[in-house]
Amino acid sequence: MKSGYFADIGLEVHAELQTQSKMFCGCPVLDSTRAEPNTAVCPVCAGMPGTLPVVNDQAVAFGLRVALALDCEINEVSQFARKNYFYPDLPKGYQISQYEYPLAEHGLLPVLAEDGWKDIRIRRVHLEEDTGKLTHIHNEDEAYSLVDLNRAGIPLLEIVSEPDMHSLDQMLAYTRALRMVLQYLGVNSGDLEKGVIRFEANVSVRPEGSDALGTRVEIKNLNSFRTMTAAVAYELDRQTALLDAGGKVAQETLGWDETAEVTVSQRSKEEAHDYRYFPEPDLPPLVISPEQIATAKASLPERPDRKFRRFQRELGLDAYQAEVLTDDRLTAEFYEATLHAMSNPNAALAANWVTGELFGLLNASGAALEDLQIDPAGLAALLDLLMAGRINNATAKTVLGRMAATGQGALAIIEKEGLAQVSDREAIAAVVRQVLAEHPDEVRAYRAGKVALRQWFFGQVMRQMRGQANPGIVQEMLKDYL
Ligand code: ADP
Ligand code: ZN
Ligand code: MG
Repeated sequence: MKSGYFADIGLEVHAELQTQSKMFCGCPVLDSTRAEPNTAVCPVCAGMPGTLPVVNDQAVAFGLRVALALDCEINEVSQFARKNYFYPDLPKGYQISQYEYPLAEHGLLPVLAEDGWKDIRIRRVHLEEDTGKLTHIHNEDEAYSLVDLNRAGIPLLEIVSEPDMHSLDQMLAYTRALRMVLQYLGVNSGDLEKGVIRFEANVSVRPEGSDALGTRVEIKNLNSFRTMTAAVAYELDRQTALLDAGGKVAQETLGWDETAEVTVSQRSKEEAHDYRYFPEPDLPPLVISPEQIATAKASLPERPDRKFRRFQRELGLDAYQAEVLTDDRLTAEFYEATLHAMSNPNAALAANWVTGELFGLLNASGAALEDLQIDPAGLAALLDLLMAGRINNATAKTVLGRMAATGQGALAIIEKEGLAQVSDREAIAAVVRQVLAEHPDEVRAYRAGKVALRQWFFGQVMRQMRGQANPGIVQEMLKDYL
């Protein structure tokens, strides 16, 4: 984008709410990338005349959780509305959404961008239903479209931000943070490649120093971070170049042409769709009681950005470790539970073991944390033994591997396999003397100034003692005897 301009970006994020059943009928919510097409369809979500929608309480509860997590004000009465348009993926001819009276408004999500923390205001959060999925086929001799209604009627939450993002980096920080919130709340898997979160970006530019927002375009159907970044970057370049040349940005709806890597006009403001919104006559107003709000609030997990900051501030972790440990809720909770279970909680040590050794085990085996045969109490017991000097660091790593393989506790493994650390000075001294006696050449070389050999002697002693010697005492003895 050309210099001298300021970017304003506002996002509309559509997140599937991964409930058991659809928004207004009993059909199951299936993984649309795996299920046979049109196997989760009933007269309601197929839009048959005479059918009636029934609101899915679970979807409302999920939406409420997200809205509260984003610190929104909840509207105790909101209203479903019909958004009318005609398209083959929409069997009823309208989508049930919320319009004038959304579920929630005025939220806030702080996000950590390259230039520091930034508050992104949330304009509104509303409930709606997803459309079906079209697959367009172009063969040599025919062209047609396939309709899969498995997705039609899956609950969607639309989260609309204010135009508070001013760079691609801030936009990505916001979308990543929002995705993480949805994952923490257990309402969405965050699998973008499965289409469970989709974006629309509103983009405008204005001359630096100007107070008035520029004319915006809306880019539809952005389904990955990569596509969104490419499309918005393209628009920022296009709009600033246009203004620079004395032109004007037209308000329009655009799509992203993946192949040509350009935005393409879908419709201009003049031909803007008139959705003829009106209150959905088949559904009563959606009422959220203060008790529902209180219950939902009480069950919210700590939001990832707050956890991240707390890990830094209260536990003294560095930004990298705090980020790795809060990236996913299970990991964060595993870490905190380990810390609490330690008799002498050491935040840095536990962080090193979770992000280092434990992640190493998971990577090597391809297993997930929840499949691991080690629970936080088990890891804490191992770290307690390490801190008490009952085993040394190298042995602790071995023991962790055995714990993962056998499901046994650290103490049982240490006792059964005789792995306890040897701190007996006489026993260590005896091995040190033996090693020096067996290697007179190296001893001479060391004394002649080749001091790096001390590490080699250390290795020899440790090997003789099956890695179980107290390394501090070994170093001390070597120094004395050499
Ligand atoms: P619509 O429903 O027609 O899309 P909204 O007023 O709901 O219009 O705005 C949708 C999104 O557009 C919001 O995310 C908002 O932040 C963003 N937006 C509005 N004006 C601008 C602008 N001038 N530049 C960038 N984004 C904008
Ligand atoms: Zn159905
Ligand atoms: Mg819009």
